Amino acid sequence: MYPSAMKGEEKQAEKMLRLSLSFSPREPVTPPIPYWLYKLHGLNINYNCEICGNFNYRGPKAFQRHFAEWRHAHGMRCLGIPNTAHFANVTQIEDAVSLWAKLKTQKASERWQPDTEEYGDFSGNVINKKTYEDLKRQGLL
Ligand SMILES: [Zn+2]
Repeated sequence: MYPSAMKGEEKQAEKMLRLSLSFSPREPVTPPIPYWLYKLHGLNINYNCEICGNFNYRGPKAFQRHFAEWRHAHGMRCLGIPNTAHFANVTQIEDAVSLWAKLKTQKASERWQPDTEEYGDFSGNVINKKTYEDLKRQGLL
């Protein structure tokens, strides 16, 4: 049983839905949920993903979820890019490609770290020198 206020709201929602349908009669929109809920979930907003071959996702939830789904994964595979968390919310092929290039550069610079560790050895020598001086000051050397 619905309170009468709720019924009125539903009627209003139905009216709005019919209105929105008449504005775009070719769009096959028959939401199985009340319009206010439909709108609450942002299902009236379409999200386009270029990586998915310009596929449209209805609502932010479906859009967020699709990044882990097969269509997006397939699109990424076609681009030769691993579908990792780095690429969440990336929908443009160009963005994905440039981000992948950036990540690869970052990975390449990570490989240089053994060199910077030599600096670590150097500072280690400084610490050893300090320790040496401390010991010397204490008359232990
Ligand atoms: Zn996608």
